[in-house]
Amino acid sequence: MNNREVAHTFATIADMLAIRGDNIHRALAYRRAAEAIQDLGQDVNQVAAAGKLTDIPGIGQTLADKIKEMLTTGHLTFYDKLAQEIPPSLVGLLRVDGIGPKRARQLYETLGITNLDELAQAAQAGKLRELPKMGAKSEAKILQGIADLEKHGDERIPLGEAWPLAQEMLATLAAISGVTQTAVAGSARRMRETVHDIDLLIAAADAAPIMDAFVSLPQVESVSGRGPTKSSVTLVNGLQVDLRVLPADRWGTLLLYFTGSKAHNVRLRELALKQGLSLNEYGFTPADGRPEILCATEEEAYQTLGLPYILPTLREDRGEIEAALSGALPDVIRIEQIVSDLHMHTAWSDGKLSVLEMATAAKARGCQYIAITDHSASLGIAHGLSVERLRQQAEKIRQANEALGPDFRILHGTEMEIKADGALDYPDEVLAELDFVIASLHVSLKQPREQATQRILNAIHNPHVDMIAHPTGRLIGERPPADLDMETILQAAAETGTIMEVNANPHRLDLKDIYARRAMELGVKIAINTDAHNADQFDLLHFGVGTAQRGWATAVNVVNAWPLAQLLAWLQEKPKNLTRR
Ligand SMILES: [Zn+2]
Ligand SMILES: [Zn+2]
Repeated sequence: MNNREVAHTFATIADMLAIRGDNIHRALAYRRAAEAIQDLGQDVNQVAAAGKLTDIPGIGQTLADKIKEMLTTGHLTFYDKLAQEIPPSLVGLLRVDGIGPKRARQLYETLGITNLDELAQAAQAGKLRELPKMGAKSEAKILQGIADLEKHGDERIPLGEAWPLAQEMLATLAAISGVTQTAVAGSARRMRETVHDIDLLIAAADAAPIMDAFVSLPQVESVSGRGPTKSSVTLVNGLQVDLRVLPADRWGTLLLYFTGSKAHNVRLRELALKQGLSLNEYGFTPADGRPEILCATEEEAYQTLGLPYILPTLREDRGEIEAALSGALPDVIRIEQIVSDLHMHTAWSDGKLSVLEMATAAKARGCQYIAITDHSASLGIAHGLSVERLRQQAEKIRQANEALGPDFRILHGTEMEIKADGALDYPDEVLAELDFVIASLHVSLKQPREQATQRILNAIHNPHVDMIAHPTGRLIGERPPADLDMETILQAAAETGTIMEVNANPHRLDLKDIYARRAMELGVKIAINTDAHNADQFDLLHFGVGTAQRGWATAVNVVNAWPLAQLLAWLQEKPKNLTRR
């Protein structure tokens, strides 16, 4: 079995346990394990062979034993037994909007429905409306859910597509009189790289006019629910959007609840219960009949639990609760700490603006220094620069530096191809003339792991290469990442002092969060860059910062939060690091 198959088995078990009505923690443990295996940077077979399964976050001895059983026998006794009680195909029902685990079990126990086809038939035959707690309305909703699923699937869409849509809708709703607070919640607020739906929250005394405006937004294709505090719509692109409206004095718990993650919230509810409080989106309710505790801010809600404020990007139950309880939350990088951008393109290659225009735009956004890093010769489609043109560009950069004065500095750089055979696109003597050298994979991304990994290692071991950009080359939802041994790459980056990029373009977000976190553990420095090809793309920076926060990156480890002198000193160390090895 491979990583995907092991992850799929665990995810199915999580759903089967939820349908059976098991303890939520048990189901969550399997769900977390599935995600950890899915996100694992190594072949799970190798990890098992090295006896290191329990090093994977969320994998204890019990789950490690189950993985070993799957890897050696190709199946899992626990799964087979569970499947006799809960047919695995029943899990498919959960993909339909409006069907949760309880409803799935009800449909199975009362009507013998075991899969989506049978569900569709029963709904069309009008059999669902007869069930307890159902009716013609719920039946119609389920039929609609099945139709939506057939039409749009239930894929997650890239954050970069969901985010602007959410902001657009929110801006329209924010203008309605009586609205005091607005927020995008859910996984988008946590800056997960893909989202399944959008959660919008609004604080206002009167919800009705806001709901009216929401369901008639131009982006809306169909309305699947409209209530006093919650409405749901499907957009023309298939994305589901939920809006909830509550009074401002409940804003803190509302925001907390719908930001998630589910796993984080479960932990918070446990802490609340220890104090005799139950926590939901409306507030804290004491078990002993004392009055309800309302929180207007998330800070107050965390305070009630005896915790410091935890940033949304950390709320994944990946150790943040323990860290908060022991006063060890990382002081993660904030966007206002970023003083430079070390990866961008001009009209010299495939960008839109001149060197001076890009520099002026970056300066206007508060940058103290930047690197201009156009493509190298062999990337023909991006008009990569020949050595001759690269040297001509140096003169332009000198002129632009003169024009912009002493408070701003343009570094002359390159985004150099690591060619398919692993060779670098410029010779060393040319690289030595540059201030900042990026090496990247753009071609032959489908090479076998060993070969693709070796190409990056070649670049890392060159004394002139300062940074590896968007290491895996993935485009979220479009192009899979190159198959890389990321552990070996990050260790080499740590040893040599090579910077790894967290590319802020929301279609890349590469390094992704879990690798950024691993980079931090190994002492690798990262840079958060926009890879801008036009001035407006500087605005993508916050996606990179969010991803770095999800990786628990702190300012000391983010080189573009450093003053220029500190960065230049760091870059000078690399050749020495290499000879020391
Ligand atoms: Zn690139
Ligand atoms: Zn680039």
